[in-house]
Amino acid sequence: MAPDDASPLLVWAEDGSPRSGRFGDVYFSKDDGLAETRAVFLQGCGLPDAWSGRSAFTVGELGFGTGLNIVALLDLWRRTRPDGGRLKVFSIEGFPLTREEAARALAAWPELAETAAGLLAVWPAGTPGFHRLDLPQWGATIDLAVGDARWALEQWSGAADAWFLDGFSPALNPGMWSPEILALVAGRSAPGARLATFTVAGAVRRGLSEHGFTVEKKPGHGRKRERLEARMAGQTPPKPAPHVAVVGAGIAGAAVTRALIAEGARVTVIEAERAGAGASGFPASLVTPRLDAGDALIAGFHAQALERAGDLYRALPGAVVAEGVLQLEQAPRDAVRFDKIAAQDLWPEGAMQRLDAAACTERLGEPTPRGGLMMAQALAVRSDAILEPWLAGAERVAGRVTRLEPMAEGWRVCGEGDTVLAEADAVVLAAGWGSAQLAPDLPLSPVAGQADWIEGQTASAPLVPAAWGGYAAPTGRGMLFGATHDRGVDTPEASDEASARNRATLGAALPRRAAEAANAPAGAHGRRAAVRATTPDRLPLCGALAEGLYALTGLGSRGFCVAPLLGEHLAAILTARPSPLTAEAARRLDPRRWTPQPTSDGDVDSLG
Ligand code: SAM
Repeated sequence: MAPDDASPLLVWAEDGSPRSGRFGDVYFSKDDGLAETRAVFLQGCGLPDAWSGRSAFTVGELGFGTGLNIVALLDLWRRTRPDGGRLKVFSIEGFPLTREEAARALAAWPELAETAAGLLAVWPAGTPGFHRLDLPQWGATIDLAVGDARWALEQWSGAADAWFLDGFSPALNPGMWSPEILALVAGRSAPGARLATFTVAGAVRRGLSEHGFTVEKKPGHGRKRERLEARMAGQTPPKPAPHVAVVGAGIAGAAVTRALIAEGARVTVIEAERAGAGASGFPASLVTPRLDAGDALIAGFHAQALERAGDLYRALPGAVVAEGVLQLEQAPRDAVRFDKIAAQDLWPEGAMQRLDAAACTERLGEPTPRGGLMMAQALAVRSDAILEPWLAGAERVAGRVTRLEPMAEGWRVCGEGDTVLAEADAVVLAAGWGSAQLAPDLPLSPVAGQADWIEGQTASAPLVPAAWGGYAAPTGRGMLFGATHDRGVDTPEASDEASARNRATLGAALPRRAAEAANAPAGAHGRRAAVRATTPDRLPLCGALAEGLYALTGLGSRGFCVAPLLGEHLAAILTARPSPLTAEAARRLDPRRWTPQPTSDGDVDSLG
């Protein structure tokens, strides 16, 4: 992860160019940084010829800095993009610049203004971990790893077709050019990968050739005498995009469908009832992270998932009903726990704000003795504005899946009476609790839940979504509140008894809202029950179950927070593109994490 103090300590020269006070070196040459970037990195990696005819092309970079190299890359890509091609960028930065600093640095290149504005519009918070930045207008995504280069390379599961090594000079920053780093770069290179850098230092040349690169010195740009080009042997064979059958049209199925279509895959979605017929079909859903004060990996995963979910939902008209969810203290120990969470470096400035009881009272519009944690990035969303647009590019098949049958290549998806619902290269089980029937070995258990709602505006001020064990959220048309948790129950039936429990839960935290709900006219009341699927460690199941068979389930009550990112992870595996997840997060969420896995020496080892 990022070093404790991750500021780049920028110094601005008189000519307006930035310099790193931390490393004592420049980000780019002040004479003509753009021409140098083009000569050393773009031309050095044989671009644009190297991506001609390719459906996807991956560029890795050590040292994201001001983003100049990547803006120049995007500018070239925009002009020479192969038909339908996708550009994947993975870049690493230990000491991220703010958007304002990057904007100031990039302003030096007016000819790149439009492309720079595109990158700056998605410039991430400099929090540690991986961040996925989308540039759908240009068919490009960037995974920016904020953290130390060695950690980031170890966590990345992609294979680059081209590498830009741009980590300040080896003399000033040897850590960016160590034998371990060069070995990791080689290990994450696709067959035929190209590599370019401005330095011809002997240690760099030796390190690269020891790990399989053929290294060549080339005449340098401007005043620099020489630069380096290197190449791996081999060629990446073309790989057609797969046809994937997705079982389930809730948030898990919709998220993986969206991500697969974005990668050019063909998708068939099979659903027994309708989109959101299960636990994703309530009038509103909260998008909240699991708060974990102790498990940094899981806390980081949820921070990343929340950021990604918010970016994707905000792009959908009508999806976001409210921004910010107030988590109220439930027990005395929550005060200390929330303090710890607010102090985690995982959240952007102001994203997790501690509030005392007076501030909570003000936000809620009614007196509360509880303090809380205002989660500014958390959301209330309408599932109907998310599921249909995300499923839109898929073929839709109505039917209840009863059996999956492996074929010589791919899978047959069968329904009642042994009808064939689909045949595809791969299947993704995204049917919530329904996945358990199709893959009985999955460690899923059902938790039935009911939520209640009131249609129409109540007398109080607009509702701030709040959670305290129970929750209350605006739906855009009224208020949703709940929910019951009946563990082990898989037959959801809405009932008066569950409604009474939901009213009591609401009354315990927000008595004024509860009274308004009780007084609402009979016709304004609604309720619905569904089953969530949970796992022994309360973490999702996301990954391969067998060859060509995958799962995205076990999302509990956090489907709307975690599914968008996990859908992209699965889509990346299915289309052989870089995953947005760290390798360690992917391992923690692997559906086979409880199954002993054979190690390379034949012993059995638990992934646990
Ligand atoms: N490519 C950048 C651009 O277009 O602006 C310039 C990169 S600058 C020459 C080198 C970058 O590497 C700096 O942003 C620096 O913070 C980063 N860096 C240096 N050492 C690092 C390390 N060990 N891990 C991660 N990033 C590092």
